[in-house]
Amino acid sequence: MSRVVIIGGGISGLSTAYYLAKAGVASTILESRPRLGGVIQTEHVDGCTIEAGPDSFISVKPAAMELIGELGLTGDVIGSNDHLRKTYIRKNGRLVPMPDGLMMMVPTKILPLLTTGLLSWGTKLRMGMELFHAPKLKPGDESVAEFIEEHYGAEAVDYLAEPLLSGIYGGNPRDMSVTSVLPRFVELANQYGSLTRGVLAQRAKARSNSTPAPLFRTLKGGLGQMIDAITEAIRGKAEVRQVRAQTVERAGAGFRIKTDGDWLETDRLVVACEAHSASALLPGVDARLAELLGTVPYSSSMTVALGFDAAGFQPPPNGHGFLVPKKERRRLLGCTWVGTKFPYRVPEDKIVARCFLGGMEDAGVLAESDDAIVATVTSELREIAGVTATPRFARVFRWRRSMAQYPVGHPQRLAEMEERTRSIPGLSLAGNAYQGIGIPDCIRMGRQAALRSGAQA
Ligand SMILES: Cc1cc2nc3c(=O)[nH]c(=O)nc-3n(C[C@H](O)[C@H](O)[C@H](O)COP(=O)(O)OP(=O)(O)OC[C@H]3O[C@@H](n4cnc5c(N)ncnc54)[C@H](O)[C@@H]3O)c2cc1C
Repeated sequence: MSRVVIIGGGISGLSTAYYLAKAGVASTILESRPRLGGVIQTEHVDGCTIEAGPDSFISVKPAAMELIGELGLTGDVIGSNDHLRKTYIRKNGRLVPMPDGLMMMVPTKILPLLTTGLLSWGTKLRMGMELFHAPKLKPGDESVAEFIEEHYGAEAVDYLAEPLLSGIYGGNPRDMSVTSVLPRFVELANQYGSLTRGVLAQRAKARSNSTPAPLFRTLKGGLGQMIDAITEAIRGKAEVRQVRAQTVERAGAGFRIKTDGDWLETDRLVVACEAHSASALLPGVDARLAELLGTVPYSSSMTVALGFDAAGFQPPPNGHGFLVPKKERRRLLGCTWVGTKFPYRVPEDKIVARCFLGGMEDAGVLAESDDAIVATVTSELREIAGVTATPRFARVFRWRRSMAQYPVGHPQRLAEMEERTRSIPGLSLAGNAYQGIGIPDCIRMGRQAALRSGAQA
């Protein structure tokens, strides 16, 4: 049997290679960048751990912790500092804390909701009355904004859903599919009618089962540690070629892949790159599949890490950071105070602000020079959070068309893509365009692709 060929060496492709290697199946990874990891990239600057892309993963989805356990890194796992978890939202030019007890945009505590300055009395009343929503099964998909507005009103969309989801997807809740982006909330609404009642019931169940886990987890030395450990674990079992796959054709019962100067043949192919890249590769394999892949929108984003001396930083950072809703936004989508959110990342005498820009509505920011970006971020940090200190270092990272979006109708498109893929023996897809954009989802899809390509369960 030929080696499995994996196109894309991000976490999806690397997870595939890992689970294949574990089962004794050889693979070849084709990766066009000079390093593995895709958008996962960690740098160490001035004693600070800087994440260029993702900084953590959500605890409730198990695939990341399972892989980390197998890699022998459990001892290096750290949780988010949830006791310091306060996130601020800019409203009318001021930073207002999100009320305590919010689960994304679902309120679970009455008093903080009543006293918050973030929402008007009309919205507070509406959120309280939501408890009396009766279950009603809705056929089909709708947008996140429609769904949240029906439960909690338009202000909850503008000042909770929009900034929270812009920070994660870089997209607009008016376009996003609620079935794909908030599947658990849809299930709870179907079952309980009231989202608040559903979340409270779930929480009560979870509490009686176990001690609460931190919301997010990561690795002491940064997520790059996971990439290094996978690279080490697959050494000798997976061959890594630093080439760009240019096209894929059918060859007998398998495939042939054109790389920079070569053709490679295989009977099992895992396409684990961005959907727009997969779309350009696959017309010769299945024209309709390639067309569907080409319709998955992607946002471009940018992270900017600014490092300061703590001594000159006034006022000291408060909480995990802040988000800027579209209604109040110029360029900055949000900012995380890295040293507050996670232990081990920033020494006590330093402060690191990790800022987010870009998204579906500001891809143009990626074309600006590093100097212009740093000037913009510095000026907005001064205006929004009163930061007057001068950064000691700055790092700018651009992620062009890296974050898949799930617009309304994504579940139907996904079903058709999966059906077509299943009908082509030896072909698998993995990556953030399909069943979840988070790291645990990508690892789960990578493992599924490995199983489909010959690894045993
Ligand atoms: C800025 C940012 C912050 C994020 N934060 C979080 C977070 O905190 N937590 C979380 O869970 N998720 C987060 N995400 C999402 C998550 O990190 C990604 O969805 C996930 O890492 C994607 O992995 P992937 O392997 O599917 O894709 P990628 O990492 O994009 O990897 C795809 C790889 O395929 C390669 N490739 C493409 N075309 C070809 C070709 N033709 N030939 C060869 N190679 C090719 C690319 O070079 C790339 O390396 C974040 C994403 C971004 C961009």
